[in-house]
Amino acid sequence: MQNFYRIVLVVLCSVSITMAQQIKTPSEFLGYELGTQFSRNHQVVDYFKHVASTMPNQVKLEQYGETYERRPLIHAYISSEENMKNLETIRENNLKNAGIMSGAPSNTDIVIVWLSYNVHGDEASSTEASMNTIYKLLTERQELLKNTVVIIDPCINPDGRDRYANWYNETKSTPFDIDPQSSEHSQPWPGGRANHYLFDLNRDWAWTSQKESIARIKVYNKWMPQIHVDFHEQGINSPYYFAPAAEPYHELITDWQRDFQFQIGRNHAKYFDPQGWLYFTRESFDLLYPSYGDTYPTYMGAIGMTYEQAGGGRGALGVKTSEGHVLTLKDRIAHHTTSGLSTVEISSKNASKLNEEFNKFFKNDGLKYKSYVMSGNPEKIDALKTLLDRHEIAYGYATSKKVTGHKYSTNANGSMNTTSNDLVVSTNQPKGKMIKALFEPNAKLSDSLTYDITAWSLPYAYGLETIASTSLVSSQSRLAPPPPVPPLSKTYGYVSDWNSLKDAKFLAMLLNKNIKVRFNHEPFSQNGNTFNRGSLIILQRDNTHIENFTIELSEIAVKNQQRLKEIQTGFSDKFPDMGSSSIRLINKTRIAMISGEGTSSLSYGATWHFFEQQLKYPVTSINSEDFGRVNLAEYDVLILPSGSYRSMLNDSGMSKLQDWMRSGGKVIAIDRALSTFAGKKGFGLKYNDNDDDNESNNLIPYADRQRESAKNMITGAIFKTNVDNTHPMAYGYSKDYFTLKLGGTSYSLLDRGSNVAHIGDDVMKVSGFAGINAQKGLKNSLVFGEERQGRGSIIYMVDNTLFRSFWENGKLFFVNAIFFANN
Ligand SMILES: [Zn+2]
Repeated sequence: MQNFYRIVLVVLCSVSITMAQQIKTPSEFLGYELGTQFSRNHQVVDYFKHVASTMPNQVKLEQYGETYERRPLIHAYISSEENMKNLETIRENNLKNAGIMSGAPSNTDIVIVWLSYNVHGDEASSTEASMNTIYKLLTERQELLKNTVVIIDPCINPDGRDRYANWYNETKSTPFDIDPQSSEHSQPWPGGRANHYLFDLNRDWAWTSQKESIARIKVYNKWMPQIHVDFHEQGINSPYYFAPAAEPYHELITDWQRDFQFQIGRNHAKYFDPQGWLYFTRESFDLLYPSYGDTYPTYMGAIGMTYEQAGGGRGALGVKTSEGHVLTLKDRIAHHTTSGLSTVEISSKNASKLNEEFNKFFKNDGLKYKSYVMSGNPEKIDALKTLLDRHEIAYGYATSKKVTGHKYSTNANGSMNTTSNDLVVSTNQPKGKMIKALFEPNAKLSDSLTYDITAWSLPYAYGLETIASTSLVSSQSRLAPPPPVPPLSKTYGYVSDWNSLKDAKFLAMLLNKNIKVRFNHEPFSQNGNTFNRGSLIILQRDNTHIENFTIELSEIAVKNQQRLKEIQTGFSDKFPDMGSSSIRLINKTRIAMISGEGTSSLSYGATWHFFEQQLKYPVTSINSEDFGRVNLAEYDVLILPSGSYRSMLNDSGMSKLQDWMRSGGKVIAIDRALSTFAGKKGFGLKYNDNDDDNESNNLIPYADRQRESAKNMITGAIFKTNVDNTHPMAYGYSKDYFTLKLGGTSYSLLDRGSNVAHIGDDVMKVSGFAGINAQKGLKNSLVFGEERQGRGSIIYMVDNTLFRSFWENGKLFFVNAIFFANN
C-alpha cells in the first residue's frame, strides 16, 4: 500500500511540474489571436498574473503603484529558478557594485534588463508585445535567464492606453479599415498619449510630478538596471528606430554607453535583416533632456534606449502607409518582440562587461563642479529636497561661511555668504552624474538640433541663488528641526508671508474653509515686523461667522507648518492700517478654464493638475465648443491654456469675452493662447518684430535648410527677466526672475498695460539653445503682463510657468494672477 501511495505521489508531483510549466500563449489566454484586437489593461494584468502563478519559481509579479484612475501598475521580475531564489541578493549586489549600498558585491555576473512598455498610451503595440516577450523568454529563450534578471513593466501608462484601446474598440470598422483617412485612424482630443492629467510621462522621469512616475522611480532606484528600453511608436511611415541614438548626446554619456548602443543596434539588425524589415538608427531621437525614459536611465548608469515602431495612434489594427504597404498590429508586435528579446540576448552575452562598466560609471572624480550650494526661501529649498529624495540623491547643509564659484544669478564667477540653512549637493556620490545633469548651469550641447528643451537647470527652476563650486564644499548631514509651529492666541489678527507655493496652498485651504483673508498692496509694519506686499492678513473681525475661529485657524496653521505672526491692533507702525483701501479682501474666486478641441492638451492638463493636485482649489473645466452657451457671469477668472482659439473666439465669441471682461472678468491667457489677442482691436498686445533679419534665405543650400531654420528657434532656454514686483502679479518675487522660454515667438512691451516681467535691452540667456535671430527678437519683449479691459483685465503669460509642472519658481505668478491681480 505504501508503495502505491508513493507511486501516486510521484505521478501527482510530475503532473504538477508539467502543469506548472504550461503557460498559455497570449492568444490562448486572451481568446483571440494576439494582434487582432487591442487588449484592455486588465486583460494584460490578468495574463501576467497567469504567467506568474503558473511559473512562480521564475516569475514574480509586483504591484508597484496605482494610476489616478485606479488601474494597477505592475512589474514582472523574470529569471532562472536559481536567480529567483536569490533575487534580493542580486539586487543588493548590484547596488553594491554601483557604490550605492556599502560593502563588496559577492557576484557581478548577472545583468539587470528593464523593459518598459507603452509610456505613450496610444503607441499601443508595445503592451501587446510585452505579453509575447514574457512568453517567449520563458519558453523559447530560457537560456538567457541564467545570467539576466528581466524586469518587465507591461504598461507605464494604463490610463492613457485604455483611453486609446477603449476608443479604438468602439470606433473601428469590422473588418478594420486600412484607409488612413478613416475615423479609426484619427483620435479625438485629447488622444491616448498622455496620462490622466494629460502629462507626457516620457517627459516626467526626473520631475516626477505624476503618481505613476513617483511610484516607478522608487522601484527604479531600488534596482538600477544596466539596460533600460522604453518602447514607443512613431509615425506610420517611419519603419523602426533603434539604438544607437542621435546627436546631441549629453557630455556625461560615456564612451562605453555610446559603444554598447552600437552593439545592441547591430544585434537587432541581425534579426531584422533576414526578415527584410526596415529600420533606421542615429537620427531624430537624441540623448539630452534628463527626464526621458532613455536619458534618465543613462544618467543613472544604464544603457538607456528608445525603440520606435511605426504605428502610434494612427496605426490601428492595420493601415496603408504612403508606400502602399499595409502595416498591421501583428507586424508591430513582432518587431517590438524581436528587439526586446535581442536586447536581453546581447545583454546576457555581455553580462560581466556590463557590470564592470556599470561600476566605473559611478566613479565621479572627473566632474568639474564638486558642489552646488543653494540659498533662498526655506520652502523652496524644501520643495527641492522632496525632488532629491525621490532620486535618492544625498545632500547636506553648509558649514562654511562663504563659497565662491559660478554664480547662477549673474551667470559669472562670484561668491555667496552662506548660512547653515543653505543646501549643499555634492557630486562625490554615486549619483554625481545625475546631479550634474540636473544642476549644471548650462548643459553642453553637441548639436543645436534637438528633440526637446535644452535647459532645465534646477537652481533656476526652484528660484534659488546658487554657487557651483569646483572644490568640495563642506556640509553637515542634518539640520536641527525647526521648532514646532506654536498654537495661536485670540487676538486682532494674523499675518503670513507670501513667497512660495506652500503659502499659496495655505491660502487655498483657508478659502476652501470659507475663512476670509486679506492681502496688502503696500508694505506695512507692526511690532518690529515688516510685511511685504502680498502678505496674507487674517482678521478676527472678518471671521466671526466661524465658530471657535482661533482654534480652527491654529489647527490649519500647525497642520501646514505655516508660521503666522500675531498682530494686536489695526493701527500699523508704518502705513497702511488694516482698514486701508490698500488692504483688500480676497474673494473666494470662481475659476473656469477652457478644455477640449483647440486647446493644448498638455497645457490644459498641467493647469488641471496644478489646481487639483497642488493648489487644491476648485476649477471648472468648460469645453471650448460650449463657450457660446456658457454663462460667464458665474466666474471671476477664465483661464485659456495654450492653444488655438480661432474658432471659439470668432467675432461673437470675442465680443462675449470682451463684454464679460468689461464688467469685471479676468482672462489669463497662456503661451500660444496669446496669438488670439495679438494685433486685435481692443488689445494692446503686438508681436515683437525682428526686422534686422534681412539676409536672403534663397541661397542657402537645401541640405542646410533645417539647420538654418534653427536660427529662429528657441528650444527651451532660460533667460533672465526684470520683474516689477510692485505689481500684484509679482508679489513674493524679487526684481529678477529666470524664465524658461519654450519658443521663439515674442511680444512687444505693452504701451498701456503693466509689464510685470520683461526682457530688456540686454538679453541674458543663461542656459539652453536659442537661435541668433530668436534672441534678437527677445530684446524688449514681454514675459508677463496685464492690461485693463473696463472693470476687468487680461493677463498675458507669454511663458507657461506650469509647463510639465517642474518650473517651481514660476507657479506663484500664476496664483498671483488669479487672486491678486486687478483686486
Ligand atoms: Zn512615444
